[in-house]
Amino acid sequence: MKTKTGSFIERILLIALATYLTLSLIPESSLRSEKHVNKSILASTASNRTIAKASILQSNADLQRKIPSKIPILMYHAIADYEGNGLKGLYVTPKIFRSQIQYLTASGFTPITFDDLARLKKLKKPIIITFDDGYKNNINAFAILKELRDSKFNSKGVIFMIANKVGTKNGLSPRQLKTISDSGIMSIQSHTYSHPSLTTTKNYKKELVDSKRILETITGKKINTLCYPIGHYNSTVISETKKYYDYAVTTKPGFADLKNRYELNRIRVSYDTSLTQFKKLVKQ
Ligand SMILES: [Zn+2]
Repeated sequence: MKTKTGSFIERILLIALATYLTLSLIPESSLRSEKHVNKSILASTASNRTIAKASILQSNADLQRKIPSKIPILMYHAIADYEGNGLKGLYVTPKIFRSQIQYLTASGFTPITFDDLARLKKLKKPIIITFDDGYKNNINAFAILKELRDSKFNSKGVIFMIANKVGTKNGLSPRQLKTISDSGIMSIQSHTYSHPSLTTTKNYKKELVDSKRILETITGKKINTLCYPIGHYNSTVISETKKYYDYAVTTKPGFADLKNRYELNRIRVSYDTSLTQFKKLVKQ
């Protein structure tokens, strides 16, 4: 019995010992470390994902930062020497106009048109140079922009033409409009049919639609921007404009906020604007 008991106890002890040894040999620490490794892998994958996500967000933010929400839109009228006709303030002499454009070329500005606003993030220091009313003497502006065009400075301007002024004594002719539009330098846009105050007009179709069709027929190019005559507009004018145009400019001073596409401010350049003032006006 003793032997049996002894052998039984021995067996029990042996089993217990074997179990203990087995248990102690089971690589709990290694399991733990495996878990740890797995955790590390997961953590590092997660952290890689976080880093990747963060870097995408960062690059998006970078791109976002590069899209200016506000840009300068210059407003000119006549580009000619003042000889006593009309308001002096509406004139800028060709000599002064050239010096202003030369400043823009030297300062790294990129002149654009309203068609370029969709690809704004790719452009450095964008600026829009506009001319209201479609004076015949805007041909001087065209000649200067053409002269100053080179591989670095792709001159562009926008003429807001009054449709019923086309071919009149002081207005650009259809041939001139077609030539300057074809050059790719001047974009022709609408300044209504007859230059009324749009807050009192009843004939939106004629002022907004006919003007656009007449000018599109002359240039063969699409028109997407309206210039409110005398800077007059209200909520009705905006909702009518939205039916036919993508953008509209005002005469309110300041940089244009592109989030407000139908109330784009402009920077008036007058006869008396000095080059020092001009530099301050376009400073970003
Ligand atoms: Zn006007």
